[in-house]
Amino acid sequence: MRKNLLVSACLLGINCRFDGKNEKNQNVIRLAKEYNLIPVCPEQLGGLPTPRAPSWFIIGDGINTIKGLTNLRNEDGKDVSKNFRDGAKETLKICKLLNIKNAILKENSPSCGINKIYLKDKLVDGKGVTTAILLKNGINVMSENEIGSKNERNS
Ligand code: SF4
Repeated sequence: MRKNLLVSACLLGINCRFDGKNEKNQNVIRLAKEYNLIPVCPEQLGGLPTPRAPSWFIIGDGINTIKGLTNLRNEDGKDVSKNFRDGAKETLKICKLLNIKNAILKENSPSCGINKIYLKDKLVDGKGVTTAILLKNGINVMSENEIGSKNERNS
């Protein structure tokens, strides 16, 4: 039976980015041949509109956010930590409901970043809020950048 794979919806061409655009990635879309791809946008699930003001961390990363720290602001100066936390929790709920053990998420995003996030205007090492909650709950998370290298290693 084909396994379910959680995917950042923007990677599949869904226009859910803050600017109403997407991050369509053919390497990720090709995975539909092997898996049931389950698209999610944690920021939309957390109640934020599309388009929306871009957001970034002002201290720490998503590991701190899921512990309750208020550390995300949007371009308008509004605290959006709760929206990001809520979206992460809803995404985890979907994973539990569908027995999802693996996820491909969008690098650099404050929700979906795996290795890098924006701390104010600087790209630094860190985890997005949804990535942090999924990892904490034993779900494997990879970025879209790791798909190509994995395929190359396997070929
Ligand atoms: S929250 Fe994740 S899925 Fe939604 S637009 Fe940002 S990177 Fe894509």
